[in-house]
Amino acid sequence: MRTIPIFLLLSLLLAAAPAAAGQDGGQTIIRNGEQASVKGTSACFTGQVRIDRLYAANHAMRSSGGSVTFEPGARSHWHVHPVGQVLIVTAGLGLTQEWGKPVQVIRPGDVVICPVGVKHWHGAAPHSAMTHISICEETEPGKVVQWLEPVSDAQYDAR
Ligand code: MN
Repeated sequence: MRTIPIFLLLSLLLAAAPAAAGQDGGQTIIRNGEQASVKGTSACFTGQVRIDRLYAANHAMRSSGGSVTFEPGARSHWHVHPVGQVLIVTAGLGLTQEWGKPVQVIRPGDVVICPVGVKHWHGAAPHSAMTHISICEETEPGKVVQWLEPVSDAQYDAR
């Protein structure tokens, strides 16, 4: 059996690949690892937070999605979403709270619906990291959240 040089094999495979994502008006596939992770800033978060953007609002759709990982003790500031938010917990052990209500424990597989304009926060448990997917809709380009004050240690510890 003849062997095919690897560069020739690769070029044949690449030539057979479909056109670049979305160019024909069809599906867009955003490959894992194509988008750099972003560090959550202290203007929006307490502690160590990593944001892995999943998709932006475009393609005639208003929603955008990201995966957010909170190290133990890390949490968002208090905030509201102008068109609400859906959180899907994918790993670890987390906490969430609405203003004036008790802190709730959230676990992988849990889905949290944050209604329009309701002040809340979400983050990791004190000794466990937590990752959730966040899906929001935009009212205007890029506007999915209004950030408020940090969650104090006393508020965080009042579980
Ligand atoms: Mn939120």
